[in-house]
Amino acid sequence: KDSKTNRVITSQDSFQIGTYIKISIYSDKEVPAIQFDRIFEEIDQFEKLISKNITTSEVSMINENAGKAPVKVSSDIFELIQMGIQYGEISSGGFDISIGPLVDLWGIGSEGAHVPTESEIQEALSKIDYRNILLNETDQTVFLKEEGMSLDLGAIAKGYIADQVKTLIQEEGHQSAIINLGGNVLTVGHKPNSEAWSIGVRDPKGENKDIVGILKLQDNSIVSSGTYERFFVEDGKRYHHILNPKTGYPEENHLQSVSIISEKSVVGDALSTTVFVMGLQAGYAYVESLDQVDALFIMEDGSIYGTSGTKSVFSLTNNNYNLKE
Ligand code: FAD
Ligand code: MG
Ligand code: MG
Repeated sequence: KDSKTNRVITSQDSFQIGTYIKISIYSDKEVPAIQFDRIFEEIDQFEKLISKNITTSEVSMINENAGKAPVKVSSDIFELIQMGIQYGEISSGGFDISIGPLVDLWGIGSEGAHVPTESEIQEALSKIDYRNILLNETDQTVFLKEEGMSLDLGAIAKGYIADQVKTLIQEEGHQSAIINLGGNVLTVGHKPNSEAWSIGVRDPKGENKDIVGILKLQDNSIVSSGTYERFFVEDGKRYHHILNPKTGYPEENHLQSVSIISEKSVVGDALSTTVFVMGLQAGYAYVESLDQVDALFIMEDGSIYGTSGTKSVFSLTNNNYNLKE
């Protein structure tokens, strides 16, 4: 129960799409479990369409048929792939959903993670090119032009799913909620007392609960991509999971994390990864050029840069960091 507003907060969590999920809904009375069941079931459905670890998923079908045949997909997957290609264009291939071969090769986040050989990297790179993902809008098909190509929607799908969960919660009649899909945080409405939500921005060097500061948000998404999320250490060197599709290696540009504030979480998810690969200068300029999108950049040396819209909503709380003007 929220002491200030007398509203009941009902929360449930789950572990799906390889990540920890928590949904909190503010309401007059406790939200029935069946409504949460519906939400988790919807996430399950998306996982079954998108996961490349599930052999029957639409994405697996597309990958299996690379170089062979177009695959008819559902409208959700078609739309998601269309958006993925769009961010490939925006970033001139810095973001590339056909990065599957490289992701599989490094295996970051799985037990077999290791530094590949140079020739393995070159081989994987030769398969990556979002321009070789061919969409047919009339037939709703996706065709990967070259054999060995594969899609990985890990950089964009959580945001898409979060947006769908928000719609579902609103359809269930709720105006006030927080959705957290493994760090993709989406706020529905504002708090019942009309205050904005306070969302902590993760300290990339700290533990799970450590933050660098607080963002005050309403009806907004905040998505972070960082070097701390998935990585492994080999010969004393850290390798994280945001890969540069040009070099074949984890992107090293002194960024530790990028957080994107946007209305739609799918935009935030795609952009957090895209902008990470672009780096501070190009990424900052790009985000400033967009309406209603803002970004926070946390650098290895502890400096934090925020685009203009963050000035009124972000406050630094961690004195290991310093906020640049
Ligand atoms: P983001 O920055 O949003 O994305 C980084 C991820 O995108 C990388 O892990 C890589 O997969 C990919 N990527 C890396 N570089 C680029 C680039 N330049 N351009 C485009 N993409 C890039 N994890 C598990 O451990 N087990 C599971 O069973 C599992 N199932 C999943 C099922 C679904 C449907 C989804 C959406 C995710 C699943 N995941 C699973 C998590 C997934 O593997 C990614 O780790 C996760 O989506 C990364 O999200 P992020 O927010 O940490 O990083
Ligand atoms: Mg993310
Ligand atoms: Mg992302």
